[in-house]
Amino acid sequence: MTRFDPSENHARTLDENDEIAHLRDEFYLTEGEIYLDGNSLGLLSRRAEKTLLAVLEDWKRFGIGGWTNGERPWFYLSERLGEMTAPLVGASPDEVVATGSTTVNIHQLASTFFRPEGKRTKILATELDFPTDIHALGSQLSLRNLDPSEHLAKIKSRDGRTISEDDAIAAMTDDVALILLPTVLYRSGQLLDIERLTKAAHERNILIGFDAAHSIGSVPHRFSEWGVDFAVWCSYKHLNGGPGAAAGLYVNRKHFRKPPGLAGWFGSEKGRQFDMAHEFASAASAGAFQIGTPNVMSLAPLLGSLEMFEEAGMEAVREKSLRLTGYLMELAGSELSSMGFFVGTPGEGERRGGHVALEHEEAARICEALKERGVVPDFRAPNVVRLAPVALYTSYLEVWEAVRILKGIMAGKAYEKFENTRGVTA
Ligand SMILES: *Cc1c(COP(=O)(O)O)cnc(C)c1O
Repeated sequence: MTRFDPSENHARTLDENDEIAHLRDEFYLTEGEIYLDGNSLGLLSRRAEKTLLAVLEDWKRFGIGGWTNGERPWFYLSERLGEMTAPLVGASPDEVVATGSTTVNIHQLASTFFRPEGKRTKILATELDFPTDIHALGSQLSLRNLDPSEHLAKIKSRDGRTISEDDAIAAMTDDVALILLPTVLYRSGQLLDIERLTKAAHERNILIGFDAAHSIGSVPHRFSEWGVDFAVWCSYKHLNGGPGAAAGLYVNRKHFRKPPGLAGWFGSEKGRQFDMAHEFASAASAGAFQIGTPNVMSLAPLLGSLEMFEEAGMEAVREKSLRLTGYLMELAGSELSSMGFFVGTPGEGERRGGHVALEHEEAARICEALKERGVVPDFRAPNVVRLAPVALYTSYLEVWEAVRILKGIMAGKAYEKFENTRGVTA
């Protein structure tokens, strides 16, 4: 093993050897700012801007005709984007569609796949889940007159950061009808073993889905091969689709015949939607799980941003992402030890997603001091400084510089002038 080199020169060497470094030039980066919050909101690329403006242009030019005319007819946009997203989740093109929001898609797929029967009346999640997942699952139970405090089981964490796969499997008892788990935990960045968990669920006759909001665009997936039943994700984080961009969902083709829990006319077979019949002619694809008219303007930027993933290839993106997070963790170990930080993200590459959690009791104030110095992190209560170096646009030198700035803040206690509280969004 070579010794870790914390020098600025080493960071520059890593950038010189970065084969996808050129993609950074496609993004709108702010001079003097180091953006490490791409796992909350990815940055705008010139290509995403271009496709958004092109769709506006089609509206200008075609009016209602834009649904079927032009280079990118809106009527087929959700399916087209599903095809473009499929390689990122390891699915066939017709198993994926761009639609809704993560929360709406959880409602859609939980209402489709949760079929309590006899003794099997529970939904299994984790106690470290993103809140909206829990709210949605809880209300799905309530709608069926099942009390969430009894029927929403949550896998416990042993350390408050991670979920052990063994514990998850032990919780797959014979009263569980449906499982929804995160692929990557939003706070610690732990990546779960999706293949193993899916296999274990199926051995116990339980359907299993994943919320891939924090892994899509940063970690490759093989949902079809692993037999995952369904998945959801949002497109404004690592996919760089813009604030409120249309989300995505995956449904394994073995479930194409299942009637959607929340049906709507955009789930119809394309050729029959405008028959305007009252009988629902469901599409024989993941498209069946769309509900109403798509938000065309929030789909449009994805046409451009997904192109960049096609070009780079998800494997190359993951490789650089792992190097970036690994580099950040090593720098934190070498430069910030003895300053009260604890790295909450698993060290093993196969157990970590695309961001790093630095825990510190002064985390909220440290984030304020970082922002004051041009580093954009985010704070996750109670004690996490979350940093996401993003493969498509973050350089190694920026990671190096961010750690240097952080070290300076800690050495001079520059955070003390801020209050240790959080703002509205972080
Ligand atoms: C970001 C995120 C969401 C957000 O859901 P929206 O419907 O887009 O507000 C949900 N779940 C997880 C795990 C997330 O990381």
